[in-house]
Amino acid sequence: MILIDGKKAAAELREELRHEVTGLKAKYNKVPGLTVILIGDLTPSQIYVRNKEKSANEVGLKSEVIKYPDSVEEKTVLEKIKELNKDETVSGILVQLPLPKHIDKQKVIETILPSKDVDGFHPMNVGNLSSGYESSVPCTPLGCYLLIKKVEPNLNGKKAVIVGRSNLNGKPMTQLLLKENCTVTITHSKTKDLKAECLEADIIVAAVGIPELVKGDWVKRDTIVIDVGINKTDKGIVGDVDFDEVSKNAKALTPVPGGVGPMTIACLLKNTIECFKRSQI
Ligand code: NAP
Repeated sequence: MILIDGKKAAAELREELRHEVTGLKAKYNKVPGLTVILIGDLTPSQIYVRNKEKSANEVGLKSEVIKYPDSVEEKTVLEKIKELNKDETVSGILVQLPLPKHIDKQKVIETILPSKDVDGFHPMNVGNLSSGYESSVPCTPLGCYLLIKKVEPNLNGKKAVIVGRSNLNGKPMTQLLLKENCTVTITHSKTKDLKAECLEADIIVAAVGIPELVKGDWVKRDTIVIDVGINKTDKGIVGDVDFDEVSKNAKALTPVPGGVGPMTIACLLKNTIECFKRSQI
């Protein structure tokens, strides 16, 4: 079984991006800039944002974090986003989710210029992705896609089963694999026989949020399994895939932690650089 090392893949991607930023600096005499807006003092969000800032600095991006208290008014955040939209030194804007209840997530997402939407959540980017046009792609599915391609560069005609249909993970994952000519089945909580669907798959991407849902006998011997899940349990952080069982059967599997997670942040940096490059044309 191939253990897909997300930490190593992310370090390699960051190294590629560092070289790219050096080249862009030489060509344009400026570097891509990422601005993250962090609202409130939720510890996981603070950790994510700190890691994003550290990784951005590591590859040579200009990075900035704007912090607001939980009580910040929605209009203050929207005004700040509009200001950042106009700022030429800002290539990418990310508003860390979740947001406090009084702030409308969709309004925030739609206020970010699609060309600076490094999360790929703006409806215009969602539409472009599903139409097969150039767009920002949500970072986690993009990371999953890059890991799958490392194991199997040619995905033509492969059967992919996506477990979970969230806008964040399942749906964009489906679009990425369709573009690669996979035959994609997207499953969800109302799917009748998830095990039978998974047993058909050459590729399984599990993004559900249920600890160890995907079992060993759901997986064929030549299946690539990507585990997006991050679940806190009594035995620590586990994924949506039963690692011990599935690792005995699958062709390749991502661990949790150390699989998809590290790629998510590296893909955010990649998206920021892509936004910068598109803005220079
Ligand atoms: P989400 O928005 O809660 O969506 C979960 C999806 O799973 C829904 O489509 C739901 O179906 C489906 N589902 C629920 N129970 C199911 C079942 N028994 N069988 C099949 N499908 C079922 O979750 P998400 O935001 O995509 O996150 C999923 C997991 O990924 C979480 O553990 C999260 O922490 C993790 N995550 C990891 C990263 C990373 O960087 N590694 C990033 C983001 C999220 P319905 O649509 O029918 O309700």
